[in-house]
Amino acid sequence: MSKSETTRALTVLHAELDSCHACPKMIGPVVHGPPVASRVLLVGQAPGPREGSFGRPFAWTAGKTLFRWFQEGTGIDEDAFRRGIYMAAVARCFPGKSSGGGDRRPDATEIGACKTFLTREVAILRPRLVIPVGTLAIDEVLGKGRKLATLIGTAERVRYHGVEMDAICLPHPSGASPWHKMEPGKTLLAQAMKRLAAHPEIAGLRST
Ligand code: SF4
Repeated sequence: MSKSETTRALTVLHAELDSCHACPKMIGPVVHGPPVASRVLLVGQAPGPREGSFGRPFAWTAGKTLFRWFQEGTGIDEDAFRRGIYMAAVARCFPGKSSGGGDRRPDATEIGACKTFLTREVAILRPRLVIPVGTLAIDEVLGKGRKLATLIGTAERVRYHGVEMDAICLPHPSGASPWHKMEPGKTLLAQAMKRLAAHPEIAGLRST
């Protein structure tokens, strides 16, 4: 597919996403990024309560941390990131709050419903690199049961929705999670950012 065909196909998919009401417990609006024809796919977890009003993923505090990691670790700032990397997620609507006060984890039915969009995005983009961010996204891309400490800082070859690609995982940048602020998380995160900086698809973004 040419870049313009890819952009057109993603635009059609985004129109379907925008009108999706498949999950009764989810709180709209649907949040997605622009139709970036990229070989790098970021898979996040689900938008938080603020992203809907900004109309873009990672628009609030977790995003600030994520973009700082990229700026410091790879030299790619937020604008270049948003222009060069396609941002998807396990769920595209805010799940609401859990009884414990944090954001509710999407349930299996919701994840399954939203996966139909992810499957199509992978088929359209045929990514060479996937960056799952947070345990929910890592479970989705690499399968359940993998520990963060054995995954962050490594690179794996994965087959995701029928397409082979490299996977470099990141912890969730949410302030609610202390994992990346304490050892071994700090060191492993630095290793993951080094791997990302050295990946040809990320290196290619620095020159655009
Ligand atoms: S989470 Fe996904 S499948 Fe569910 S309503 Fe939102 S866009 Fe649709």
